[in-house]
Amino acid sequence: MIDSMEFRTFINRRTCTFKIASGSSDTEENVIVKLVSGDDFGVGSGNPTDVTHETLASMESFLGMVPKKVVGSDENYPDKLHEKLDGIAAGNTAAKAAVDIALFDLLSKRDKKPLYEFLGGKRDRIITDMTIGIESLETTVQRAIEHTKSGFKALKIKVGLDLDEDIRRVSAVRDAVGPKIELRVDANQGYTVERAIKFCEVMETLQVMVVEQPVKAEDYAGLKKVAESSNLSVMADECVKSVLDARKVAREGIADMINIKLMKSAGINDAVIINRLAEAADMGTMIGCMGEIQVSIAAGLHFALSSDNVLLADLDSHFNITDDPSSGLVFEDGYLVAPKKPGLGIETPLDG
Ligand SMILES: [Mg+2]
Repeated sequence: MIDSMEFRTFINRRTCTFKIASGSSDTEENVIVKLVSGDDFGVGSGNPTDVTHETLASMESFLGMVPKKVVGSDENYPDKLHEKLDGIAAGNTAAKAAVDIALFDLLSKRDKKPLYEFLGGKRDRIITDMTIGIESLETTVQRAIEHTKSGFKALKIKVGLDLDEDIRRVSAVRDAVGPKIELRVDANQGYTVERAIKFCEVMETLQVMVVEQPVKAEDYAGLKKVAESSNLSVMADECVKSVLDARKVAREGIADMINIKLMKSAGINDAVIINRLAEAADMGTMIGCMGEIQVSIAAGLHFALSSDNVLLADLDSHFNITDDPSSGLVFEDGYLVAPKKPGLGIETPLDG
């Protein structure tokens, strides 16, 4: 039985302003949730963003209504927990993710297994990229060099504001880091279909592996056209926020890959379903993140390790938070490594 739930908000500073095609930020807000059942507890966290139409206020208000619904309920069924959460309100997926992750942490701790093993996974690490926001050409190249020096084997470059400048920046990064570093780019819905097709053509010549969400989220037909016209992988991100969206993209062959984020999927429960849907349609997935701290980054990592269909990881936001209240993840030779401890393996101020 779930005996109690509490949550605490943390507002943390970014190492530098993060600018993408859809906005910019200097701080990150994350809410840590703790669920207690008998002698066991689990923690999760959520980060509100425009993508899921959440704010810190909406998250706190939603989470304030959760204890009344979940305290006293059976902790062994994540589906049942989600039914209760969905009964409070639709949406609010980052808030729901925090509760979902806390439950999975609790259940895998009780099972005395790292969460990835609890979910059926065998590998304990995956290469993560590091993201470079929209910066001047000089800053972009400088960051790319710094990140590869600190061990990253893959870089994700944000584009989508100015096609010609974007091409110059990605091209300069390729020149600077050489052929062995994997490059991914993310336009965050910034291009028209015609520009996106042109952009993908150039990206292919620069051995870019993936182009993420080049066109507007609601333009499924446009995304499909870009994917069909391009040889590199076109990835759906903002247009897949739920199992239903994933089903549409998989069924209609709208993209080559799907970017799964726990903040969009309301946590691990539906992330597993989205990944299975993608796998059935022969689509690989990537695990991505918002401006998250180590608690939910670890959850994303464990989820990614649970299935070989999760091909790529973009789990980097915690590297850019100067005062993350949570810890435990190891970065080694370009890989993000899951702790060997039961559960998420992450320490937080809500432990004990
Ligand atoms: Mg994206």
